[in-house]
Amino acid sequence: MKYYIMFGPPGAGKGTHAVALAEKYNLRHISTGALLRDEIAAGTALGKEAKKLIDAGNLVPDSVVEGMIETAFETASGINGFLLDGFPRTLGQAKDLDAILAKRGEKVNGVISIMIPDSLVYERIAHRALIEGRADDASPEIISNRIKTYHAQTEPLIAYYKEAGKYHECLGTKPTIDENRQLVLELMEQIPE
Ligand code: AMP
Repeated sequence: MKYYIMFGPPGAGKGTHAVALAEKYNLRHISTGALLRDEIAAGTALGKEAKKLIDAGNLVPDSVVEGMIETAFETASGINGFLLDGFPRTLGQAKDLDAILAKRGEKVNGVISIMIPDSLVYERIAHRALIEGRADDASPEIISNRIKTYHAQTEPLIAYYKEAGKYHECLGTKPTIDENRQLVLELMEQIPE
């Protein structure tokens, strides 16, 4: 099994491009954000707890998303691997992911990082709010908190994966989704088997 990580700030296009990559390489796309939104929609206890944190632009506890990821890894038939989108988001999650995979005799194959400046994060998320109606896209204060959370808690993963020789980065700043997707697909081609 291959394990790839889509990395980048909110609004970089992780989810959008993950769909194309998953299809091309026969990978299962796992978005922890989407799984959490499913829990919220289903009204589960986990969903109710998570909603408060998500709607404020904060992260949910590592143990919650790690449990979801481990469950998702159980359903591995008929695919070449997994494409993780929005996970890991903290150094603790990255280290725990390494441990979870090591137990299975597996490892992270590569990190596909899409970089955009903070100014574009606001623009993209404001646009997405009109289309998807996500509560955590709704106000500039919440977006600003998510950007702050990204810089404080998620950005340190860049050094972690660079150190491991697994970090591959492209820009996601082209005006169209097609142009950006092309860059992401080219980046994926460069990741060694
Ligand atoms: P996303 O759809 O990836 O933008 O995620 C939406 C929200 O879900 C995030 O702002 C977090 O509150 C929560 N979330 C998603 N993935 C994680 C994660 N790996 N760790 C902690 N919180 C997460």
